[in-house]
Amino acid sequence: MTIEILEPHGFCAGVKNALQKARALVTCHPQPSAAPVYCLHELVHNELVVADLKSRGLKFVESLSDVPEGSTVLFSAHGVSPSVRAEAAARKLKVVDATCPFVARVHQAASEFASRGLQVVVIGHPDHAEVKGITGEVPDPIVINDSSYTSLETAKRPLGVVSQTTMNADDVAAVVERLRQTFVVESTAEVCRATKERQDAVKAFDGDALLVLGSAQSSNTKRLCEVAHCRTFRAGTMADLRDIDFSGIGRLGVTSGASTPEEFFSQAVDWLRTQEDT
Ligand code: SF4
Repeated sequence: MTIEILEPHGFCAGVKNALQKARALVTCHPQPSAAPVYCLHELVHNELVVADLKSRGLKFVESLSDVPEGSTVLFSAHGVSPSVRAEAAARKLKVVDATCPFVARVHQAASEFASRGLQVVVIGHPDHAEVKGITGEVPDPIVINDSSYTSLETAKRPLGVVSQTTMNADDVAAVVERLRQTFVVESTAEVCRATKERQDAVKAFDGDALLVLGSAQSSNTKRLCEVAHCRTFRAGTMADLRDIDFSGIGRLGVTSGASTPEEFFSQAVDWLRTQEDT
């Protein structure tokens, strides 16, 4: 088996920025007696990153009501809705905002569309933290993630279309194209550059199989598995990797999601190299 590393891989700019903010916070509060620092939801969707931050003292919560008044809270790279910001202000929390600038741009586009009276449509997964944050910006948003559009049957106004940043880029383009056949559409819908570059590299890979290193909770990791033109494997930890049967594979491509640590990537590739002649 030969190993081919696809570029780019590893942390995107948004994840690097979020991690920098998180590490600065826990480094500022190193003593056990210091007031704890909280993070609303997972900072990024990767179990290794979250475990590392927990070991440094960051406390993860699923609701602001679990953060004591006056404490410091970190908002994740996926962004939050205005109602969450208002609740944080009402409870006098000190907010450190790690929302990725690409996500913030989607929030801005959605509110601009809504302020001009357009029906905002979000192409994304309704349960994803990023989509919850975007939909919180506007009244009556519609979320779609396939080509059926039944939820749009009653839409009479022109549509203002935005997208979750980590969708399948081809799917987003196809959905916008289909919408244009029926509705008047203004669109800023596209995935972020980090997502697009990784998907393009995967689509161009013509080996026997692809290994995507990343978490099962990571949207961009899942999309990389979907867009490959060959058999795919996913591993979030070394234990996952050692469980995979690579027998019969000649050329194996290796890539990673945008929230996968480089340390894990290097460790995984080193282990795979020991399998190259098997
Ligand atoms: S994947 Fe894209 S949107 Fe998400 S944090 Fe990275 S750069 Fe930002």
